[in-house]
Order: sequence, then structure tokens, then C-alpha cells
Amino acid sequence: MTTPPPATAVEPGTLLRLESDDWSYGRDLTAATKVAVVVTRLRTELAHVSDDWMWVLGHRPECANSRTGEHQPCMELRVKVTALRRFASTQDRRQSQ
Ligand SMILES: [Zn+2]
Repeated sequence: MTTPPPATAVEPGTLLRLESDDWSYGRDLTAATKVAVVVTRLRTELAHVSDDWMWVLGHRPECANSRTGEHQPCMELRVKVTALRRFASTQDRRQSQ
């Protein structure tokens, strides 16, 4: 039951450095602050995903398990798609090599 990834695909392990207006509704996060999150995955399975926002699951950069994924993502926050695109474009495969 896999669906094609959305146009905005951010590789797992990507470090997102988000400005205060790049995100909203973070679990256990203080609103209107800068946030860094190491992406585990984007929640693309939600039926009510908006064109403008995506839920991101991940870990804090200092989380010891951020690379191994040995526990449930400890961060969950709603991020602007435009902000995600900023990070997705830095890993543009056309520019590798
Ligand atoms: Zn964690």
C-alpha cells in the first residue's frame, strides 16, 4: 500500500532549520521560535493533508536516536510546504555528481 511520494520529498535524515513562521502546531514546542528537526518522514498518509502544510515526524538534532530511529519520532510538527521545498531543493539529484 505505497503511494508515490509527493512532489515535496525530503530525505529522511535531513536537518530542517525552521524559522518561527515556517511551522505551527508542534507537539511540545514553543510557538514562534526557531526549531531544528531531523526528518524521519513526512506524514503523507493523512487524508486531510493540505496543499500548504505537511506534518513532519522527526527527532531533535541532539536526540541520540535520530539516526538509528530506534524509538518513535519525538517531534511532530506542521510545516509549511514552501519551507520544506527549500530543504528538498538542496538535495536536488540533478545537481549531484
Ligand atoms: Zn528522538
